[in-house]
Amino acid sequence: DSFDAMGLQENLLRGIYAYGFERPSAIQQRGIVPFCKGLDVIQQAQSGTGKTATFCSGILQQLDYGLVQCQALVLAPTRELAQQIEKVMRALGDFLGVKVHACVGGTSVREDQRILQAGVHTVVGTPGRVFDMLRRQSLRSECIKMFVLDEADEMLSRGFKDQIYDIFQQLPGKIQVGVFSATMPPEALEITRKFMNKPVRILV
Ligand code: AMP
Repeated sequence: DSFDAMGLQENLLRGIYAYGFERPSAIQQRGIVPFCKGLDVIQQAQSGTGKTATFCSGILQQLDYGLVQCQALVLAPTRELAQQIEKVMRALGDFLGVKVHACVGGTSVREDQRILQAGVHTVVGTPGRVFDMLRRQSLRSECIKMFVLDEADEMLSRGFKDQIYDIFQQLPGKIQVGVFSATMPPEALEITRKFMNKPVRILV
């Protein structure tokens, strides 16, 4: 049970250790490797279990850093959570030179457009602002190959279902999907059935 045994890039391992993590949590132990293999994963886990670093590591391992185009999109239910994920992604990806931006409501649309046009590898955001950026084509979706829904149950209970479906519609057809949720209400199961391909299920 070590990060070393997961086959991660050296510069990602450096970021993980520099962030202060020594050993993977249970969810990281079970979730990072399948995510890194490009598999669809459903992880039913409460916050506090280390889910953020699970999908951030999976994304950071698979990005092509020579291509400054958005390749991974993470949706979260609140601005605060999206910004927190952005921080973790940036910290873990520090030695990889990851360019990450949080697209959340209540901030300048112009500033989002400027940063996206300058180029990012990955975007974390709330459904409303992300959809707005896709609609304006400030966020280009052609190169997106990983899509993560964090706290999917919470997003659904906040009424983001239609926006999540609209966003899916804008993404390339063949895409890796990760769903993280503390509970699996029927609407969350519907998402996994509609948009995921033979997902690996991990219950922590
Ligand atoms: P999360 O479930 O992603 O919100 O993480 C909950 C808390 O656990 C955060 O404060 C993380 O920084 C911390 N954490 C996550 N993974 C590890 C780890 N492998 N070792 C130590 N702390 C961790």
